[in-house]
Amino acid sequence: MSAQYLDLAVAPADTAFGLMADFEADSHPKKVSLIAGAYRNQNGDPWVLPSVKEAKKRISDATHEYLGIAGSPGFVKQAKELVFGPLTAYLQENAASIQTVSGTGANHVAATFLAKHLRPSQVFIPSPTWINHKSIWQMAGVPIVEYPYYSPSTKEVDMAGMLQSLEQAKLNDVVILQACAHNPTGVDFSKVQWEQVAELVQRKKLFIVFDSAYQGFATGDVDGDAWAVRYFTEAVLASESHPGLCVAQSFSKNFGLYGERVGALHLFVPRSLSAQGARSELMLISRAEYSNPPRYGASIVETVLGDQDLRSQWKADLDTMSSRIHHMRNLLRKKLEEETQRDWSNVEKQIGMFSYTGLTAAQVSRLREEYHVYLLPSGRMSVCGLNESNIDYVANAIGEVFRNA
Ligand code: PLP
Repeated sequence: MSAQYLDLAVAPADTAFGLMADFEADSHPKKVSLIAGAYRNQNGDPWVLPSVKEAKKRISDATHEYLGIAGSPGFVKQAKELVFGPLTAYLQENAASIQTVSGTGANHVAATFLAKHLRPSQVFIPSPTWINHKSIWQMAGVPIVEYPYYSPSTKEVDMAGMLQSLEQAKLNDVVILQACAHNPTGVDFSKVQWEQVAELVQRKKLFIVFDSAYQGFATGDVDGDAWAVRYFTEAVLASESHPGLCVAQSFSKNFGLYGERVGALHLFVPRSLSAQGARSELMLISRAEYSNPPRYGASIVETVLGDQDLRSQWKADLDTMSSRIHHMRNLLRKKLEEETQRDWSNVEKQIGMFSYTGLTAAQVSRLREEYHVYLLPSGRMSVCGLNESNIDYVANAIGEVFRNA
């Protein structure tokens, strides 16, 4: 018997989950967690969206039977319409959609499928990006190139660096783009910048994987947050020779259904092809990996999106979450400027759950050790962890770290 597996070195713990465990073990009364990518209300508690609460009542006697391999057809239809809006009518023959195990599962099925069938020579992922992009594509065995995405000096997208890097891509290479509310920086492309990226992608015939984890959560505007995905999809559909595109869609944040694992993958093949074969292959992958996706969370989303009143309530819920985050950004900026006499406008300008604060790893350590304020070592702050009760403490702690450098 080979005992090689017994010699495996212990892999480093996941940074975010490791820090969350440290936070739980910390008994300091003023501790503040700005780690997790999960919404918290003004009391610092997890929030069940009122639209979700009502949908749960309506499906209380739902069945517990297996879903099909591709998931609930009603959910998949709603998910597709949500992301593609008016374009959905044009996406029939050449679109393959399946329900997935949340956004992570959608990214993973996409990587597995593309590694096998598109066979890119490399995948381009943003630097920095959601930590799992790298792990997922490493597992798929595709060489990874990190393209510059964020410039610490300008605190904006590094457009020149990105375009220069993508110019090196070859036909059918894959590019990962986050649709909105970029994790971890909170910095998105402007429409003009999206157009520049689209021009390059079309010219070089690159395959885009859109990671859409924050639609509606980013700004409260469901259609506005899907602008880039729709713009690229329209361009791909108009082209005879483009390799295609896919969208990995998550419902964790915009429905607050983190633990229910609700997601979908939408894959477009070129206009001249049918997507039936691709769809059957996606189903083969899903069947081998998890057999069929979870039913409960998808039923909640399907119920909310399929009912006018619940959908309106959901939009109001999105507004509640995005407005609270925006308000916290605004307050934090003011307080940090008072504390440090520096410009913190980037904190207010950034979008979505996260702020790339620019704090160094050493400053982040001091915040944790001396003030029990927890951020990721990259300086990424989950703005959702702030509220009226702890924002003064956090701003003051950051101020102290600057004053006593
Ligand atoms: N993609 C991005 C950019 C994310 O930030 C996240 C979660 O933080 C995900 C995908 C996946 O989330 P989930 O698997 O919960 O849908």
